[in-house]
Amino acid sequence: MPGEAQCVDVGIVGSGIAGSALAAALAGSGLSVALLDRRQGGLDSARGDHIQPAVQPILERWGVLNTLVLSGAEQRHGTRWFDTEGRLLVKIPVPERADCAPAFLYLNHEQIGDVLLTHAVEQGAIDISGISDWSLDRVRGGWQIHWAGAGESGTLRCTLLVGADGTASPVRSKLGVRIDRHRYQYPIAVLYGRLMDTPEMRTLDVHLLHERMVSMIPRTGGGTKIGFPIASDELSMWRNQPESVLHNQLQQWCPNLEFEHLAFGAVYPPVSQQAESYRGDGAAVLIGDARHAMHPARSMGMNTCFRVADRLASLLKGLRAGFAEAELLPLLQTFEQQFDKEVTQRLAENHAAGLQMDTLSGNGFPKLVEQLRSAAENPAISTAMALKAAGLEG
Ligand SMILES: Cc1cc2nc3c(=O)[nH]c(=O)nc-3n(C[C@H](O)[C@H](O)[C@H](O)COP(=O)(O)OP(=O)(O)OC[C@H]3O[C@@H](n4cnc5c(N)ncnc54)[C@H](O)[C@@H]3O)c2cc1C
Repeated sequence: MPGEAQCVDVGIVGSGIAGSALAAALAGSGLSVALLDRRQGGLDSARGDHIQPAVQPILERWGVLNTLVLSGAEQRHGTRWFDTEGRLLVKIPVPERADCAPAFLYLNHEQIGDVLLTHAVEQGAIDISGISDWSLDRVRGGWQIHWAGAGESGTLRCTLLVGADGTASPVRSKLGVRIDRHRYQYPIAVLYGRLMDTPEMRTLDVHLLHERMVSMIPRTGGGTKIGFPIASDELSMWRNQPESVLHNQLQQWCPNLEFEHLAFGAVYPPVSQQAESYRGDGAAVLIGDARHAMHPARSMGMNTCFRVADRLASLLKGLRAGFAEAELLPLLQTFEQQFDKEVTQRLAENHAAGLQMDTLSGNGFPKLVEQLRSAAENPAISTAMALKAAGLEG
């Protein structure tokens, strides 16, 4: 039996971080919102989990920051860089400024997604998940999506269509939007572990080995996520070998670190991509990885999702429920101009960091080490790095 047609102001395909963030940002605005997703369970745990200090005031405004803390989010106090011998090169602290939080906040990715989506649903957003099939049609003054899944089907009609359906974005393909894409050479492997000695003041620790960059990223409850590039032919070793082999390899890389336990997590093929804006008939916009996928280096992808969702929601909040497409189109133009200003530069910076990490023959990263040594000696350089890492302009 087909479900009843539902009419909403904003229809979002994809309830990952970007879609849920937009729905959370619109909560309480009076606009009606529906999210559609093929997902049946939670989000992938290994992805974005560190919220930049400059982004936290946005989440506070949406009314979700405290819930993240109550859900177990913890604080990270800056980033430390180590050389091939495990010696500290420099610690980049969190800037002390009124316009940002005093620390990074971290929580597992799927929990961040849950907090955002729950907040949106509690404020009236419709959440349709587990859909296996959907089709998109342009109708007068809006869009129509027929969906089916889990023995149910239905029709959603929306005035604004938002594609928040990740890197491969079927919405982007259906709308015929072009993208620029760079595929990095080396996939990123993620392991989960627990260090024997976990300091109380957690930091993200980057080890510049002879051949590759290895990041030790705090997880809640004293855990550590370990991320590093691998060659494709190393994959089966990381995925299939017993835990003792993982210990040996990490011990060789970072002799000062001893792990209580280690387990393989996942492998990601990183890409940098930017989609153009939608220029066809009707009101449609792409957000999140569908619009601006980034390399995992330097914690920027999810944080950019929050910024972009906030910008879009701020513009949409100027409209009344039941708005017409014609009222929306000039606002989307403004959004696209703001997007170009804010995100294009961040993407370029992230791409530079991604290229820096995309090596298995880094030779100790001499240029980067030189830059980090200068930062250790020169507070102006260290401050500029701290502002960038926190999500503030340098
Ligand atoms: C290893 C790794 C570590 C990272 N670490 C960080 C970090 O520390 N900080 C940071 O800021 N960023 C980080 N990122 C980036 C960040 O995770 C992403 O930018 C962010 O999660 C993107 O969210 P999204 O909602 O756009 O996409 P996604 O999370 O991919 O969500 C897309 C949603 O669309 C749904 N979907 C897809 N196709 C369809 C379809 N056909 N029909 C219906 N639904 C569909 C999916 O089920 C999914 O729920 C990391 C990424 C990786 C891979």
